[in-house]
Amino acid sequence: MEKKVKANRFEGKVAIVTASTQGIGFGIAERLGLEGASVVISSRKQKNVDEAVEKLKAQGIDVIGVVCHVSNGQQRKNLIDMTVQKYGHIDVIVCNAATNPTLSTILEMQESVLDKLWEVNVKTSILLLQVAAPHLRNGSSVVFISSIAGYQPEVPLAMYGVTKTALFGLTKALASEMSPITRVNCVAPGFVPTHFADFLTRSKEARKALEDRALLKRLGTTEDMASAAAFLASDDAAFITGETLVVAGGTPSRL
Ligand code: NAP
Repeated sequence: MEKKVKANRFEGKVAIVTASTQGIGFGIAERLGLEGASVVISSRKQKNVDEAVEKLKAQGIDVIGVVCHVSNGQQRKNLIDMTVQKYGHIDVIVCNAATNPTLSTILEMQESVLDKLWEVNVKTSILLLQVAAPHLRNGSSVVFISSIAGYQPEVPLAMYGVTKTALFGLTKALASEMSPITRVNCVAPGFVPTHFADFLTRSKEARKALEDRALLKRLGTTEDMASAAAFLASDDAAFITGETLVVAGGTPSRL
């Protein structure tokens, strides 16, 4: 189905989206590309990168794909190097990668899992931005993808939720540190039936329960998240920094 996007807010801009070969990251890359951005997509597996690049090119999007496991320092550097070699600068970075390796409670969680959650969900975004910062142009924008679980970390997503809470703080801290050159904002999605959320949305009953928690009585879509991320990354949000936008159809999260 042809996507109807009327704006072209990213004409002449260069956008990197991590973990973007499917799900929310792919949706964001697609939206930015359809609005005129040159997009750099990435994920761990070459095959996924190649397939996603083809899907975006088929829509007329200017795109390159780079393998980047966010935990791999060399691959993070390569992601930035390839972008700068090809386009010369960076306007938008969307930090979207996350993991949730186990569903155990916090008090039963193995140290290796605690380390991995912190590393993938928080630390690697900081390390990526350290490498990218010298190439960010005036008026650029960073968007973190957090979660409503960051406001209400609860079983079975409690520790994952706490790492997402950390992103709210990181958004504020970096908004201050990177101003006035770069704005830094955050999207907190509600439930979206992607591969990542499959364990929550697979059964009809569980899915219905999540739909019922939302005032709008449905799950989110990757397009819902892409619209929000594109807004925050665009000049429409030129006076917004350090903020988190909840995109959850009214699922309880915060005041
Ligand atoms: P998804 O559909 O499962 O997609 C995950 C993407 O990340 C894939 O492209 C995968 O490709 C890539 N990836 C996984 N681990 C990676 C790593 N270590 N380094 C680089 N790329 C990696 O997931 P999603 O639901 O879109 O989730 C995206 C973000 O939204 C996450 O931050 C998640 O916490 C957040 N979120 C999701 C929901 C939801 O309900 N879905 C709700 C709130 C927040 P490869 O396998 O090729 O690496």
